[in-house]
Amino acid sequence: MNQNKKTTISRRHFISTSILGLSAISMGCTSHEKRQFIIRFDTESRQREEMKGFFEKIVSIQRSQNIPISYFCLGAAIDKRESEFLEFAQETKDDPLFDFQCHSYSHIGLGYENGKSVEVLKADFEKAFAVHERIFGSRPIGVSICGTGGKDGPSLCGFDATDKSRAELDMLAKLGVKMINTNLCEADSKTEFINYSKIGHPEIMGFPNGSPSDNGWLRGRKYGNPKEFITKQIEENAKQNKHMAIMFHDDTGWIDVNDKELDHLKLVTEVARKSGYELATHFACYQNKDLWKL
Ligand SMILES: [Zn+2]
Repeated sequence: MNQNKKTTISRRHFISTSILGLSAISMGCTSHEKRQFIIRFDTESRQREEMKGFFEKIVSIQRSQNIPISYFCLGAAIDKRESEFLEFAQETKDDPLFDFQCHSYSHIGLGYENGKSVEVLKADFEKAFAVHERIFGSRPIGVSICGTGGKDGPSLCGFDATDKSRAELDMLAKLGVKMINTNLCEADSKTEFINYSKIGHPEIMGFPNGSPSDNGWLRGRKYGNPKEFITKQIEENAKQNKHMAIMFHDDTGWIDVNDKELDHLKLVTEVARKSGYELATHFACYQNKDLWKL
């Protein structure tokens, strides 16, 4: 009798442990099984005439192929192409495939060794946010870091590198920023989602930087045939089970390589889906707290 009871208990114990084990595994799967693929368009061209038709084309491709994209818009570009941006904003309002975020007002640099003062940076982002609010009807909560081509010195390894760079992140947090590139010295900025609890901002998500950028593989043809290169790059990241982020620029494909059908965007999304990635906007990733509240 005792023996039976013991067996029953241990079997029950075994079953409950197994269920716990299974649920722990499946919780892991829910948050990490599907690797995220985020497309970031730094939307910054100030060439109004040359950019005409871009928004109409990309809206139709996104909708017909169900492609989520985050647009990190430069305040100065919005001012220059105001009526086009306004039309774009109205057309895509409340459509979750379109996520509008910020790329500063004047392409100013964050996280650089000799960057502008925190006051100057703050004024630039306040100006950019005001422009966004006017056009899109809401304040952005995301920022993508601008490349400044060496004029601010080298990029620091992260916002945790110096007192000034920490102050830059504090300033952005006060402006309401909730997501920015993954930029901590010990994190892999290309493939990791993080949070900034290490430097006092658990509420801010870090997202993988768009790497590679179309300025290198597409316009610069730095790695040979662009289509072959990007296909291989996506397939390799997928094999290694890594998140992936791609950085496009509005003018690189449209103007510089005259890709008026946005074939490179279509190719990238097809290969990503075939490789098992889930396509998401940055804002959707922010809402998926399991992804970055690690
Ligand atoms: Zn840029």
